[in-house]
Amino acid sequence: MLSSVLLLKSKGVTALPAKTVPDKKGYFGSYGGRFVPETLISALDRLTDAYKTVRRDSKFKRELAGYLTDYAGRPTPLYFAGNLTRRYGRARIFLKREDLLHTGAHKINNTLGQALLAQFLGKKKVIAETGAGQHGVATATAARVLNLECDVYMGDEDIRRQALNVYKMQILGARVIPVHSGSKTLKDATNEAIRAWVTHVDTSYYLLGSTVGPHPYPVMVRDFQSVIGVEARKQHREKTGREPDYLVACVGGGSNSMGLFYPFLKTRSKMFGVEAAGSGIHTRRHAATITKGTNGVLHGMKSIVLQDRVGQIQLAHSISAGLDYPSVGPEHAYLSKTGRVEYVAITDKEALVAFRRLTLEEGIMPALEPAHALAYLEKLMPRTKKNETVIVGLSGRGDKDIDTVRHALKL
Ligand SMILES: *Cc1c(COP(=O)(O)O)cnc(C)c1O
Repeated sequence: MLSSVLLLKSKGVTALPAKTVPDKKGYFGSYGGRFVPETLISALDRLTDAYKTVRRDSKFKRELAGYLTDYAGRPTPLYFAGNLTRRYGRARIFLKREDLLHTGAHKINNTLGQALLAQFLGKKKVIAETGAGQHGVATATAARVLNLECDVYMGDEDIRRQALNVYKMQILGARVIPVHSGSKTLKDATNEAIRAWVTHVDTSYYLLGSTVGPHPYPVMVRDFQSVIGVEARKQHREKTGREPDYLVACVGGGSNSMGLFYPFLKTRSKMFGVEAAGSGIHTRRHAATITKGTNGVLHGMKSIVLQDRVGQIQLAHSISAGLDYPSVGPEHAYLSKTGRVEYVAITDKEALVAFRRLTLEEGIMPALEPAHALAYLEKLMPRTKKNETVIVGLSGRGDKDIDTVRHALKL
């Protein structure tokens, strides 16, 4: 399957993949597809058709652009990080400032897009699941402004650990529905959310939070997040007159990185997806799916999965809740096999050091997720040249992580 999209490699530069979109069944090479109960197939078919129609609808495009601009705060700046650049004395470093968006991260790009889609389809309610609560808060926010009801399924254990986000969702008018089954975390919440969607498929919309799940979600979420890369490419061109040499972004499910990378796939920019190595990739406490995982099925998609020899899903670990996911979006799995994007892993410790470094150099506290991308600069920068440029995806701000950092970093 991959042979049809084999890449030409010359001098370490990777040429274009022959196709960058999935086939009709939602496969990126051998990854993606739909691994769901029969009852869901027709709902996913209808969603695929509706999405195709709405994406071409000028009223939808105009309304979404309006919300992204006036409500979420787009375009976000492409900031030249002068102090950080001088520290390395190599390529110029630019930060794509998704941390400045309403609610503090890129997730709002996707939740506004899908909630508006739900509204266009005449749905009354959006249903979501959340682990750490970030996607739940972004969904509750978009639902509120678009006057939709919002049910968020969340494992008991996560509800206990993420009390502040639970409160935020509730005060935004969402119903947080506790899930008592299984390990009482994200996996179980996902099952319940899908069950609720199937039962009320005519009136409700299932709003997924990353480039994961059954087709068409990986494509839809990528498209809604591509605004990051489209803006960054234009802004970089205005500032430098050319394409960037390197792009770096963190990978949990893969939405902020896919959003940044996608509009650059046909350029010659080198791309790095940074996974969470947690306590180290040679321990069992990490979330480095592409680095250490194997092919498998999870959450309705075929992808790369952290699993043991008999296919039991391993618990993922990272200091950043947003990277703590035992799989990855199918398009990333595909891009890793074609070699178009290189995937690397950064430990909790390295991410904490990078958090401190950006804060001290630029007065910007990054979320711990993009701190992983920033940490990779330590390895990348010595290999760069002065006339080159790097764009780092700063997917979110660090306010939510201050307590974690305060306990982990002894000043
Ligand atoms: C959720 C989150 C991530 C990880 O999710 P992706 O889908 O991989 O982007 C990264 N950064 C921040 C700030 C997040 O909130």
